[in-house]
Amino acid sequence: MKGFAMKKIGETGWIEKEIPSIGPNDALVRPTAISPCTSDIHTVWAGAIGDRKDMILGHEAVGIVEAVGSEVKDFKKGDRVVIPAITPDWNSLEAQRGYSMHSGGMLSGWKFSNFKDGVFAEYFHVNDADGNMAILPDTIDDATGVMLCDMMPTGFHGVELADIQFGDKVLVIGIGPVGLMAVAAAAIRGASEIYAVGSRPNCIEIAKEYGATHIINYRNGSIEEQIEKLTDGKGVDKVVIAGGDVDTFATAIQVLKPGGRIGNVNYLGEGDFVKIPRAEWGCGMGHKQIAGGLMPGGRLRMEKLISLIETGRIDPSKLITHRFTGFDKIEEALLLMKDKPKDLIKPVVIIE
Ligand code: NDP
Ligand code: ZN
Repeated sequence: MKGFAMKKIGETGWIEKEIPSIGPNDALVRPTAISPCTSDIHTVWAGAIGDRKDMILGHEAVGIVEAVGSEVKDFKKGDRVVIPAITPDWNSLEAQRGYSMHSGGMLSGWKFSNFKDGVFAEYFHVNDADGNMAILPDTIDDATGVMLCDMMPTGFHGVELADIQFGDKVLVIGIGPVGLMAVAAAAIRGASEIYAVGSRPNCIEIAKEYGATHIINYRNGSIEEQIEKLTDGKGVDKVVIAGGDVDTFATAIQVLKPGGRIGNVNYLGEGDFVKIPRAEWGCGMGHKQIAGGLMPGGRLRMEKLISLIETGRIDPSKLITHRFTGFDKIEEALLLMKDKPKDLIKPVVIIE
């Protein structure tokens, strides 16, 4: 089969590989729509997970089940499914502790385009198929379905990590596709005010549509000062971080009320330490909590998010700014993600 791969750090290309074989609990899926992710760019061009040789990229796909193992109970050949980017081993001790995303070791629930070939191929392998696939209903088209793989669950996980409650005043730092889903999730959770940080005009527009009450352009002055003004110096109850760098934590700590909580889903690619300002952290006694996490993955999460789309509570297709058709367009879509033109939020490739 053909696949689009990371050949080594900084180099991508088309390669030929054997169609993956499946074990009793696994499935083989033929993708019908895929999307490249900011993480694919970090993997190839920043060497984020170390070197990989001829590893097929991609972890966001919907598709048709081609084959299932003998022990798979709930899926069969021909089913139309969505597969989350994170596919844990659900019988691991980590999953039993409630941390499925770390099954087999820290961050090891992330398998596609990390420990095994990803989804930018004619076929891909899904481990623990009953636990990691969900039926995609006919009411959700392929392109919208791909937003379920990573953007929706990651943005929503940021909101879970920050423990957003109704009435909370919330700061969402970063309104790329992940942060935009966090804005939407904060609104669904009942946040009273949502301050969204970003600068690209189309992201700002969509942040408002998803429920942002105020926009903070971090290029026009410090986030701290703008929050200070907006909250009469009181600060915010919760912060979701979906953009920025190791310094962003200093900002988040500074604007957070005592007892507040930060949920970080942002990938920190540089710097040895996250910055926590001592005095603003209450000299260690401010009850300002920081939680950072990889999204948990799994079928239940997919099914719950699907139900939010089906009932019209959220429309993640607003994230899709660029659409391609044809398997061979995967390369173009990935390079577009790398170049990040200002009007790009999320590209999707429909594979016929
Ligand atoms: P994008 O690059 O599309 O968006 C980043 C956002 O952060 C933009 O709104 C950008 O603003 C803003 N930003 C950049 N620098 C700063 C800064 N210094 N201060 C404040 N805001 C800033 O990223 P994605 O939405 O695709 O992904 C967000 C992060 O989530 C990435 O790090 C990605 O790797 C990670 N991720 C994590 C996952 C998980 O499971 N934890 C899964 C998937 C992704 P501007 O409008 O100017 O561009
Ligand atoms: Zn992703």
